[in-house]
Amino acid sequence: MRTPITVTVTGAAGQIGYALLFRIAAGDMLGGSPVRLRLLEIPQAVAAAEGTAMELADAAFPLLDSVDVFDDADAAFEGANVALLVGARPRTAGMERGDLLAANAGIFGPQGRAIGDHAADDIRVLAVGNPANTNALIAQAHAPDVPAERFTAMTRLDHNRGLAQLAAKLGVGVGRLTRMTVWGNHSSTQVPDPSHLLLDGEPVGFAPEWVADEFVPTVANRGAAIIAARGASSAASAASAAIDHVRDWVLGTREGDWVSVALPSTGLYGVPAGLVSSFPATSAGGEWQVVEGLELSDAVRAGIAASAAELVAERDAVRALGLL
Ligand code: NDP
Repeated sequence: MRTPITVTVTGAAGQIGYALLFRIAAGDMLGGSPVRLRLLEIPQAVAAAEGTAMELADAAFPLLDSVDVFDDADAAFEGANVALLVGARPRTAGMERGDLLAANAGIFGPQGRAIGDHAADDIRVLAVGNPANTNALIAQAHAPDVPAERFTAMTRLDHNRGLAQLAAKLGVGVGRLTRMTVWGNHSSTQVPDPSHLLLDGEPVGFAPEWVADEFVPTVANRGAAIIAARGASSAASAASAAIDHVRDWVLGTREGDWVSVALPSTGLYGVPAGLVSSFPATSAGGEWQVVEGLELSDAVRAGIAASAAELVAERDAVRALGLL
């Protein structure tokens, strides 16, 4: 039997956690490697996480080596090869943006430190909990000995939502589409960009008005549409996107395709270095590589700049609080 891969999931008792853990245990994320799950929760939610652990045991997944539940980050990240940071402090009524950033810095800073102190040398981190990009930046800043590029945030759900809209528009299955792109922050300033899309390997053009007036708002507001329809936020699709992100990072992206990943900028496409922003990227040998040299329309260029400005403001707000 192959050596198990240790995966730490925070917010394990939440909605996304409930959808995510069963997919990981079934082997969907790591190419059939056995997996050790380490679940982190706040003390009030430990009992619920233990219930999920009981269900995971009862599903008798052949690839599931073990499940352990913790309320201590140092213990939860011990030996972790992959960390999925799902638990976050949601925005509540009357909460200012600064309060939200501060509350999450109080979660992601200590988790970053625990990752730096206890995770395995090959640790790969995906922040899902919002504000995901800045949470990834905070965690990364607290783990100075871990290469910065091991800290990423999730824009894969926005990417997948874009693919779904484009497939519907074209009347084809998503499997025939490649090279969808999402730039920027996982927020309302995100820039879904179908301008390099291929259908069966051939370019497809979309009218700029349709992209600006229908496509971008539909993708950016899809979360709210799901809450309105379901009465609860998206969970299974978010979990599925997290699985896609880690699987592609570890096992590689499809030949000829790229995906959208929020990772520390090196300054490409005008995004200030160090910000965790979404780019089109390929993965090989467990490393993301941003796709360079793409031609951008003026609208996309302006959108990337606006989203980067929002990320700068988030970073500066956390810095001003002395949390970065
Ligand atoms: P969910 O599992 O539904 O969501 C978890 C996080 O993912 C939220 O920050 C949410 O952001 C974010 N998210 C990112 N993308 C999406 C998306 N497309 N759709 C929905 N959510 C998205 O939240 P629950 O409240 O059900 O569960 C959170 C759990 O985290 C709780 O069990 C809580 O106890 C735990 N927690 C654990 C911590 C820890 O381990 N130290 C710390 C804090 C909380 P948004 O809020 O913007 O929807």
